[in-house]
Amino acid sequence: MSRYPHAFAPVTLGRLALRNRIFVPAHTTNFGRDHLPSDRHLEYHRARARGGVGLVIFESIRVQRNTVGRPQGVAGYDPRCIEPFARIARAVQAEGAKLLGQVIHLGRQIEGEWERTVSWGPSPVRWSATSQMPHAMTRADMDVVIESHVRTARNLLEAGLDGIEVQVGHGHLLQQFLSPASNRRDDDYGGSAENRLRFPLEVVRAVREAVGPAVCMGIRVSAEEYLEGGLGLDDMRAVVPSIAAAVPLDFVNVSHSAYHGSYSLATQMADMNIDATPFRALPTAIRESLRAAGHAVPVMAVCKFRTVGEAEAMIAGGGADLVGLARAHLADPDLVRRAAEGREETQRPCIGCNQGCATMLERNLPLTCLVNPRGGREGDMALAEASPAETPRRVLVVGGGPAGLEAAWVAAARGHRVTLWERDAELGGQTRWIRAMPHRADFLKLIDYQLGQCRRHQVRLETGKAADVAAIRAQGADVTILATGSRPTRTAFAGGRAALTMEEALAEPARCGDTVALIDAIGEWSSLSLAEHLALAGRKVTVFVPVGAYSWRTTIYSTFANRRRLRDLKVKLALLRAVRDWDGTTLTVEDLSTGELERLGGYTSVVAAQYNEAEAGLQQALTAAKLPWRAIGDCLAPRTALEAVYEGHELGLAL
Ligand code: SF4
Repeated sequence: MSRYPHAFAPVTLGRLALRNRIFVPAHTTNFGRDHLPSDRHLEYHRARARGGVGLVIFESIRVQRNTVGRPQGVAGYDPRCIEPFARIARAVQAEGAKLLGQVIHLGRQIEGEWERTVSWGPSPVRWSATSQMPHAMTRADMDVVIESHVRTARNLLEAGLDGIEVQVGHGHLLQQFLSPASNRRDDDYGGSAENRLRFPLEVVRAVREAVGPAVCMGIRVSAEEYLEGGLGLDDMRAVVPSIAAAVPLDFVNVSHSAYHGSYSLATQMADMNIDATPFRALPTAIRESLRAAGHAVPVMAVCKFRTVGEAEAMIAGGGADLVGLARAHLADPDLVRRAAEGREETQRPCIGCNQGCATMLERNLPLTCLVNPRGGREGDMALAEASPAETPRRVLVVGGGPAGLEAAWVAAARGHRVTLWERDAELGGQTRWIRAMPHRADFLKLIDYQLGQCRRHQVRLETGKAADVAAIRAQGADVTILATGSRPTRTAFAGGRAALTMEEALAEPARCGDTVALIDAIGEWSSLSLAEHLALAGRKVTVFVPVGAYSWRTTIYSTFANRRRLRDLKVKLALLRAVRDWDGTTLTVEDLSTGELERLGGYTSVVAAQYNEAEAGLQQALTAAKLPWRAIGDCLAPRTALEAVYEGHELGLAL
């Protein structure tokens, strides 16, 4: 008897039979090439289908040129997409899963600079303070959008996809018409709820008529915009049954939020700081409304589900009929199979960091994953357990942080005999500081996973073991990997005073006193979390930033939420301000916009968040002793766990 009888029960969407109720929702990968699906897409989706899901939904397939945007956007209206889509469909179907395509017009979100197009929207209302003004669509424009959806859906079916999802959510064009926050029209398509629904309904109806009653077709909606003046759950409890009454639907995929330059965006890819519990109530409520109106259509739920066990609870509790896991599948494409085989403890966990996925997407780079360096590179990066080393060797890893632990388990999984030395009593490197940070504990799941892998593959872990040339020579390993990390640097002021380091402030917040000046020279997660940590501990915090942006090294998906929390905690931000001196109470601060100095009194401490210094001493000593070594992570250049894990993994595969 399966531990997950509900999640693993077959289900049909219209006439489309699925082997189970776990699916991969549409999510941007930036793997497109020349606006077409790529081999990278194929390998990525094949891996998740092979991992056991019932359904994969291919990401945002653009329906016309003015919604393509970035170069990696896939143009479903272009008949050249049919052949690559056909190959992807065959690959997914050969693994026992089904493939739907999500058709989308992004409306005002599109950055027209790529294709030199103007963005379209219901009204001239921008989505963020930094975006362009959209063109207010005419009735003729609406006809073009309808026809574009139909053409794209036909192309996808010709390619052999199993059905179509029409994107009515996430703040894209059809939701822009639905929402009073973006629709200011005074014609038949604006004003009342009925009028705002008219155009989305025309699109959904046209697609259904084009694909016919036998093809699986449904919609994705946002059940709550989290937007002032926007759509709330009560609105959507009326809207969704209205669509289902007007157009036969085979599923309703319930998400939330809008692409809007505000907190709403942070809820869409909710990071480890955000509790997902409130999101779970949304599909449940939409499902209840549909059932109350007599529609038995299957409802899908998404957002921060991380395990089959969580999906099982949602389905068993009647909250949804299917559950989608996007980031969890990026972190581990085999999670369904592991659960089916009772090997849940081997699942590589998504830690909700948003560093490899959302951050890369925001930079228009291909999707990657902090905990899974092979995520998105399934076609060209070997699977450690499936690529035994030609010549097993003795490997010594010096340093037990994320880089060293990753290199150790990957090398051991390939058959090398691996010993890891850690100078401290505890493994985990810089991540040990995370215990003191608010809402960051999920990061430690990375270390738990790496340690589990080390144990499974018989890595010899030795803590409290300092390394020097003599010890390394005596060990006699064939390969020595240095993952010795980095150490904090100190900011000194005149008169012998110094700023506290981040580590000191975290370890001993009492040393900060009541009023803290936090110099943020890195714009990373660590400095943001430290500000929150100190404010939660009752300190009055002002963050001095020497550039014109706040939190410039983290994704806006996370910073909109972080900014709200800091605002609630009354943390003050001083941009373009450089702290030049501190006499024990008074700061001398340069306003970098004018070059003028100002004196600000009453500060009991200064804490400096700045980049560490590489621990490179052993590299020099081994070179002088003519002993070979390879270095990874912070001891090469201090960065984040994203780079550390990747370099450890890559080197483990290369040995
Ligand atoms: Fe999850 Fe972080 Fe990987 Fe994104 S990068 S999938 S949030 S672990």
